[in-house]
Amino acid sequence: MLLRLVTFGLLFILAQLAFGAEDFYKILGIDRQATDKQIKSAYRQLSKKFHPDKNPGDETAKDKFVEVSEAYEALIDPESRKIYDQYGHEGLKQRSQGGGQHHDPFDLFSRFFGGGGHYQRGQPRGHDIEIKVGISLRDFYNGRDTEFSWEKQQICEECNGTGSADGVVDTCGHCGGHGVRIMKHQLAPGMFQQVQTTCDACGGRGKTIKHKCPVCKGNRVVRRPTTVTLKIARGVARDAKIVYENEADASPDWVAGDLIVTLTEKDPDFENDNPDHVDGIFFRRKGDDLFWREVLSLREAWMGDWTRNLTHLDGHVVRLGRKRGEIVQPGHVDTIEGEGMPIWSEEGDSVYHQFQYGKLFVEYVVVLPDQMESGMAKEFWAVWQKWRGKIGVDLQQDSGRPEVKPSVAAEDEKDEL
Ligand SMILES: [Zn+2]
Ligand SMILES: [Zn+2]
Repeated sequence: MLLRLVTFGLLFILAQLAFGAEDFYKILGIDRQATDKQIKSAYRQLSKKFHPDKNPGDETAKDKFVEVSEAYEALIDPESRKIYDQYGHEGLKQRSQGGGQHHDPFDLFSRFFGGGGHYQRGQPRGHDIEIKVGISLRDFYNGRDTEFSWEKQQICEECNGTGSADGVVDTCGHCGGHGVRIMKHQLAPGMFQQVQTTCDACGGRGKTIKHKCPVCKGNRVVRRPTTVTLKIARGVARDAKIVYENEADASPDWVAGDLIVTLTEKDPDFENDNPDHVDGIFFRRKGDDLFWREVLSLREAWMGDWTRNLTHLDGHVVRLGRKRGEIVQPGHVDTIEGEGMPIWSEEGDSVYHQFQYGKLFVEYVVVLPDQMESGMAKEFWAVWQKWRGKIGVDLQQDSGRPEVKPSVAAEDEKDEL
């Protein structure tokens, strides 16, 4: 047994030696079946995390940054991914000797996020974009991994953000690449005024393109629906903001600003959002607590002996009820500990963290019957009359209001039970 373990260990070391570098899938933290979207998402996160500008002086982070971009480049291209899957790093090495290209990791970064590939101060930064996403209370309660889509400005992939179909970008002949022109006006013989204007030949960019890119029409950017993954943590606050750094509109001219997503609570939709038909979607939320209104009949409120099964947001049942003889006054509120919202925690769902919950407040509304059969009405009346006489109270006396002249009503008759 021990021998087998040792052999296995040796094999493992040999495999590592043969490959030389670490597995690209491992570097990106994805599995071999990962989709393009997953590859992009992994690159998006890791390249920002290890960017040297964010980790000044940290050589390991710099190496990681380079590794991540190498892995991304190899796997996002279907052809090179196929070679890598079959022949590993060696296969790719041979391919790159045969003319395959290797990009500067900063270049790759800037094509992904816009700007010059660096976070340096002073570099123009695009504006932040705020988006509101409607989330159901159910998703706030249970947590959910979902996604949404928006029209994002991206650097044109066809021309790599040059705006040119053939990759040729010329310096503007009119302004010499400065983007501005100096005009001389003669005011009087020998007297000139100099006026600086934006070059109208190149629109101030200092560059001209003869053959415009057919995809972006020379604009260098295109607007396209972009899918963003959204992790709704259990119990996260209503209107919480999630910031996606540098994920707003991209452009070769600036570092993209942040995409800021606000999680608003949308109205419950029993038809479309509630396949399990749980009552809980109609809870109202206030902070960590939930509110529910339950209707009782006169009999239930007065005589007791009733139950209700309230289906909570995750499908578990909260049992409400009273034994016979237990009265519920209209407007009474039951406080049920531990049946409110999960209380958000940074630790989230993990074996090391047990969620605490807020309270559930149940308010009772009592409805009186608005219809009675005449026989039933008669019997009730008789019962009331009988017991009013015996144990009824005098509401006038009970109210504490000043005495008035005796009423015309019979003296021994009491007002109410
Ligand atoms: Zn010009
Ligand atoms: Zn283009």
